[in-house]
Amino acid sequence: MHQKPDADAMGSSLGLSLFLRRLGHQTTVISPTNWAEWLKWMPDCAAVIDYEFSMDKAVAALDQAEWVFCLDFNTLTRTRHMAPRLRKLAATKILIDHHQQPESAVFTYGVSKTEKSSTSEMVYDLIVDSGHAGIIDVDIAACLYAGVMTDTGSFRFPGASASVHRMVAALKDTGLNHTQIHENLFDNFLEGRLRFTGFVLQSRMEIFYEYNAALIAIPWKDLVRYEIKTGDTEGLVNYPLSIQGIRMAALIIDRDEEVKCSFRSKGSFDVNTFARTYFDGGGHVNAAGGRSTDTLEVTVQRFLDALKQNSSQLQ
Ligand code: 5GP
Ligand code: MN
Repeated sequence: MHQKPDADAMGSSLGLSLFLRRLGHQTTVISPTNWAEWLKWMPDCAAVIDYEFSMDKAVAALDQAEWVFCLDFNTLTRTRHMAPRLRKLAATKILIDHHQQPESAVFTYGVSKTEKSSTSEMVYDLIVDSGHAGIIDVDIAACLYAGVMTDTGSFRFPGASASVHRMVAALKDTGLNHTQIHENLFDNFLEGRLRFTGFVLQSRMEIFYEYNAALIAIPWKDLVRYEIKTGDTEGLVNYPLSIQGIRMAALIIDRDEEVKCSFRSKGSFDVNTFARTYFDGGGHVNAAGGRSTDTLEVTVQRFLDALKQNSSQLQ
């Protein structure tokens, strides 16, 4: 899965792992980095290896592996410090992903479908199309549901197709408690996170009506002041899109080791291309990310210049 995994990366990986185990395979799930507290309820999450924290265990698992499934990322750089090791690994590498422009050459096999709502939906398709729908139990269902629900913005984005809803119906038939999963994911934060959200919307959000765009830029000192942890800034970038007329939103955070960018859009403005062009990133048409090695101030200035250059596409 990709670094700092979200619910789709973690859910699709755990769902696939549980499925392969039911077929008698031995599996190990590795995350390139740590992950948010609010993913820890997922079945088998406690057994996931954090590559940065337990590198020896992760490397041993990789060296023994016949097959390495790469889920929910399009380029090896998304696996951070694992990337060089994955690149030279002799095992068969299989990509399952829904991001734009995959780095196809590094994978032995793969399925990349940008029209898919989530990698979790693709794991579901793999299970069903291989004739194993009957294996899906409530644990596998919970992992896959968490991924598809979060990647579709609770079933509101265009990717929430009829087949996604049919999949959810099938998952419900296993006894899935979707209300509990929503609570685990969305009602499971510390007070500081909500206060931080309030502060950021009040003090760090700028609206550029001339570009139908908004920016939230967060200095490192804010993260320290509110004791912000992995995952706590997820979802922040969506708030400005709830303002009338705003079609593009950016979140730029000084994470100390790097400046991380998130982009979201509504309609035709392509933030995948925007992130690739200006911020060494990528993703989907309406949701993408990137990074910068400049300071926060310089990165913000580069973002404002990029807005200017994209002025006509943003109208
Ligand atoms: P987020 O803004 O939530 O971090 O990411 C939005 C989407 O863009 C996700 O699908 C994520 O996988 C992708 N993404 C985020 N950061 C990067 C990046 O630096 N490079 C690439 N290629 N994709 C990214
Ligand atoms: Mn995904």
